[in-house]
Amino acid sequence: MQPLEEGWQYRWGDSPLSADGTPQWILEEDSDQWQAIAFPSNPPDRRGREHAWFRVTLPEGEWFAPVLYIYSVDIIVQAWFQGELLYQYGTFDDQGRGRFEGWPWHQIPLPENYEGETLYFRVFSNYTDIGLWGEVAILDYSDLVLHIVSGSTKSLVIAVVSALIALLALIFGLLQRGQKSFFSIALFALATAVMLVAESQASLLIGYTPLLWDYLAAGSYYLIPVALALLLQQWLSELRPVLAGWIWKLHLAFAIVALALSLMGPVDLSSTFPVFDGLLLVSLLLLAVSAGRRFRRLYREQQILLVTFTLFSGFLIADMAVAHGFLPWARVPVSWGALAFSLAVISISVWHYGKTQKALQELTVRLEQKVAERTERAEALAQREVARSRLLALESSKSQKLAGVIASIQDCFTLDQAFDMLLAAIPALYLPMDGCFYRRTTAGHYERVLSWGHISDQVFPMMLEGDVSDLKPTTMPVSHQSLPEQLCFFLRVEPDQTGNRPSGVLLLSRPELPEALVEYGTARIVAWVFQSIEKMGITLSGLVLREQLQRFSYEDGLTGLKNRRHFDEFFRHEREVSLRTGSPLSILMIDIDHFKSFNDDFGHQAGDEALKMVGDMLGQYFRGSDTVCRYGGEEFAVLMPGAPLEEARLRAEALRNAIEKTLMSHEGQALGTLTISAGIACWPESCSDFDGLFREADKALYRAKNTGRNRVVAASS
Ligand code: GH3
Ligand code: MG
Ligand code: MG
Repeated sequence: MQPLEEGWQYRWGDSPLSADGTPQWILEEDSDQWQAIAFPSNPPDRRGREHAWFRVTLPEGEWFAPVLYIYSVDIIVQAWFQGELLYQYGTFDDQGRGRFEGWPWHQIPLPENYEGETLYFRVFSNYTDIGLWGEVAILDYSDLVLHIVSGSTKSLVIAVVSALIALLALIFGLLQRGQKSFFSIALFALATAVMLVAESQASLLIGYTPLLWDYLAAGSYYLIPVALALLLQQWLSELRPVLAGWIWKLHLAFAIVALALSLMGPVDLSSTFPVFDGLLLVSLLLLAVSAGRRFRRLYREQQILLVTFTLFSGFLIADMAVAHGFLPWARVPVSWGALAFSLAVISISVWHYGKTQKALQELTVRLEQKVAERTERAEALAQREVARSRLLALESSKSQKLAGVIASIQDCFTLDQAFDMLLAAIPALYLPMDGCFYRRTTAGHYERVLSWGHISDQVFPMMLEGDVSDLKPTTMPVSHQSLPEQLCFFLRVEPDQTGNRPSGVLLLSRPELPEALVEYGTARIVAWVFQSIEKMGITLSGLVLREQLQRFSYEDGLTGLKNRRHFDEFFRHEREVSLRTGSPLSILMIDIDHFKSFNDDFGHQAGDEALKMVGDMLGQYFRGSDTVCRYGGEEFAVLMPGAPLEEARLRAEALRNAIEKTLMSHEGQALGTLTISAGIACWPESCSDFDGLFREADKALYRAKNTGRNRVVAASS
């Protein structure tokens, strides 16, 4: 390859044509008009001129089939040699003007004996540049093809790789609906691939359609900033890159408008390039500045992306500078920059995709865990509800039992009777808790009177020694942790209680509950036991009070004998029995003799003491079935069911005899003796009707008094 680097001359303007159409400038030798130039491109001082001529004297060379190879021409060209038109690209009109027809490389076959001859170039350009461009050299035709192919190989290989990347990114984008950046990568890689092929010199070997290749090159080139800005917008979305959004829209609009206008004719495609380049330069700088300012805040992968973007942008700008003559002509490795950027983007995307997948997987696992936890909690809650409802059912059945027990102890006459019933019912009330019950004995000890379930002597002693105040009654409210192994409840029966010593002590084992119910259930159960014991205490207190009241209404307070009311009731009852059975019923009326003077002599208190002694003796002298009562003052009455008159008389006589002999005393002071008089009547012996029985006995007593006192008189029939 023999570069044509020397001997170039130029001349502004267009040559006038002679009659046969040959330019006159190639015919006449007018050397002062021609200026020397290092390379036939962009002569100085253009001032809007659209025509320029260049010429060179062809050097000597040893070629088999020499061709003149020109990398590119702005915009259309004619080559004149030895007064003949040797080569033409583009169409010149009458004014020597023409339209842009693409930027192909040119091969001009050189005729024999070209050495030393002058070759003229007539150039028209309405573009920013005018003249030949890139390389101009002579070489063999076969070498030219080789040169073209080898010069394009790199671009073509990178184009294929880019196309593959585009395909890959497209597939990823389709698989990952949400990942818009894959589509941007696909767009970028595809645009790069098309641009590289279209711009490569070998494209013309594929098909000789220069303008079409230039349209493809322009279209793909113009789309590159669209894809770039889109990518940045998507990758830096957290920074809300408004600028990137504007830039891709602007470039897309430009691409569409420029291509459309070029295709329709108002402008040449070539004239859209400088506009685009200016736009691209500004866009790249703006993007670089806006991303660079936030560089430190970016993730590592975003930083890598930006670095490769900057590298690629640098190549683009350098290429632009070469194209516009700011830098000397050289092949700028734009394709390498594009490849580096594509690879960086695709690898980061894939890595990012992997990371997202992993994060998604972790999220799924976490979600599943959460669902499992929730389900577990819901199940626990459900279990607790079931347990709770069981507990409530148990509680209500126990409450029913308690109500039954309370009702039945209310029906009891005595405290002992009530305790017996209570003790029989207690285990059923408190099961499944084990326990025992202690009752205070008359001696004041606490004796275990009941136990059930598995109780150990350590926890539940046989006897509660000493003072029960050593025991700590369980108090409300309770928490499960604070519960001892043994729960203690005091049964307090008010009138029965002595000091702080309860009538009974209930010891229970700690309730065992399902885990879910421990907190809620324990307190509830203990509260229930507490209330039940309380209720029992109240009921028993009522019973004791009632018992006492009853005793007071039928007993004589001084002597402890039954009173007259009881006597009258008992008499009515026994009268019915005797009437039915026919068995005798004797009645004794007893009066102390001269008691008034006794009182006068020793005082009223001594009199009371004497009355008590007489009462005690009366109680001892009669059978359990007999009823002795204080009838009033110092008078007593005895009812002897089933006793005939004589038997009654004998008993009265024995009593009288005993009293007569008994020395009355008061506070250690002897008071002397007392005597009694008694009158006896018996049904049916003394009287055939019961109504007269008392009267008869009274009469007999009266007689006893009148006949000297200290005697027993029986009523005669
Ligand atoms: P007699 O029956 O032998 O005819 O003589 P009397 O003195 O016992 O007869 P009277 O019925 O007149 O007197 C009864 C006396 O009993 C009057 C009262 O002082 C005494 N008396 C009655 N009830 C009580 C009592 O509860 N305590 C004491 N200390 N004296 C009583
Ligand atoms: Mg009397
Ligand atoms: Mg008397």
